[in-house]
Amino acid sequence: MVKTIGLLPVGEVPFLVEVADSVRRNFCTEVEILRLPLDLSSSYDPGRGQFHAGSILRLLSTYPVSVLRLVAILTVDLYEHGLNFVFGEAVSGGREAVVSTYRLYHPDPHTFRARVLKEVNHELGHTFGLKHCPDPSCVMSFSNSVLDVDRKGETFCPVCRRALDVALASEGVSPCTGTTLRR
Ligand code: ZN
Ligand code: ZN
Repeated sequence: MVKTIGLLPVGEVPFLVEVADSVRRNFCTEVEILRLPLDLSSSYDPGRGQFHAGSILRLLSTYPVSVLRLVAILTVDLYEHGLNFVFGEAVSGGREAVVSTYRLYHPDPHTFRARVLKEVNHELGHTFGLKHCPDPSCVMSFSNSVLDVDRKGETFCPVCRRALDVALASEGVSPCTGTTLRR
């Protein structure tokens, strides 16, 4: 059984190594940085100057790689119907997720990096069936703005952690050792 989470950078994506480390710790899987190209042109809306997140998820569904989960990390601006922008989107309980660094930028690299790690872990959480969490410090809490992203933590609250461990176990991934459990 494949137990690798694939990260697919499109463009000059920052903090890839740190993102891979964070995903490895949170999801207890191998993490691979994929280098096959992804042509986003069909998801571009010239009227909005943005890329449609749902279309990118559909593109990813045909991406020819055998991984447990596939997260595209982009630097371009994303939108979804009815929303001005999205930080990312995922197939709930599915294989694919997409995250954009575009709206997460901060001149302080520590803040910028923390935002990217949180949003990647958040969207991956959705692919394991997790919903938005009412705990504002949980990485699964909903973020309407970067202020919300800055407020939440990079890890899962105990409730989400348990749900995630069950989901991971159902796919043959051994539970985390507890190092990512919050005190
Ligand atoms: Zn979400
Ligand atoms: Zn939670």
